[in-house]
Amino acid sequence: MAEEERTNKEDTQASGEAEQTQRRSRPQRGRGRRYSRRPRVCQFCADKTKSLDYKQIDLLKRYVTDQGKIRSRRETGACAKHQRMVAKAVKRARHMALLPFAAERYR
Ligand SMILES: [Zn+2]
Repeated sequence: MAEEERTNKEDTQASGEAEQTQRRSRPQRGRGRRYSRRPRVCQFCADKTKSLDYKQIDLLKRYVTDQGKIRSRRETGACAKHQRMVAKAVKRARHMALLPFAAERYR
């Protein structure tokens, strides 16, 4: 049984408040969930962000791992629309060498 796939249902709904209480009881088995649960509120929707710029590195940095990877929606909590914008902005920023494609290799 794939435990990764189970969040799809709640992702389809953009409003993150109603279905909060629904799934809480989950039988303990296997390994626990990977990311801690926190309220699913898209930070950009909360700020009413309409456009994202690749020059806002400080902001974009919060949405990449220290390895330089773009964080998944499960981690960021961003809605589909804004996650797309983030991904696009990060990719542009990478192209402009504002963000790394990959972490620097350390030995
Ligand atoms: Zn959003």
